[in-house]
Amino acid sequence: MDPRESFCGVCEYCGLGSNEVKRLATRLLEVFDTFQLKWWLSCLGESLNYQELVVGLGLLAGLECPGCKAGGCVDECPIRDCASERELKDCSLCEEMERCEKFQFVSNEFPEVKKRLLSARLKHLASIYHAKLMSNK
Ligand code: SF4
Ligand code: SF4
Repeated sequence: MDPRESFCGVCEYCGLGSNEVKRLATRLLEVFDTFQLKWWLSCLGESLNYQELVVGLGLLAGLECPGCKAGGCVDECPIRDCASERELKDCSLCEEMERCEKFQFVSNEFPEVKKRLLSARLKHLASIYHAKLMSNK
């Protein structure tokens, strides 16, 4: 299963799922190591907990998110539960998507999520309409 495939479309654009964060964290750790950053912390002008920084970057560098459909992202997601029950590939295929209120917790932080779903839904409906037109020729 593609870990970047989700019901609401968040995973498809997620920096963690695309490995971008993982790659950058790994690279930063390599650079810190090469330049032995811990000896030059005073150059930053502020106190920095080097150990905590390295632990945090290590967590990001080792990140393995299974993705929405394999149980990643939020623990109990009303969107995932609902779309799975309806056996939909994603919410863009749902007739209730425009008025669905299960997105509230996502839309507050990521308002573009529903816009992308709406755009995917319009494409989906257009392809159905097109197929109908072709079959009537
Ligand atoms: S768990 Fe919920 S919020 Fe997270 S990607 Fe899946 S559907 Fe979206
Ligand atoms: S009602 Fe439709 S759009 Fe809303 S969460 Fe369920 S499947 Fe997705």
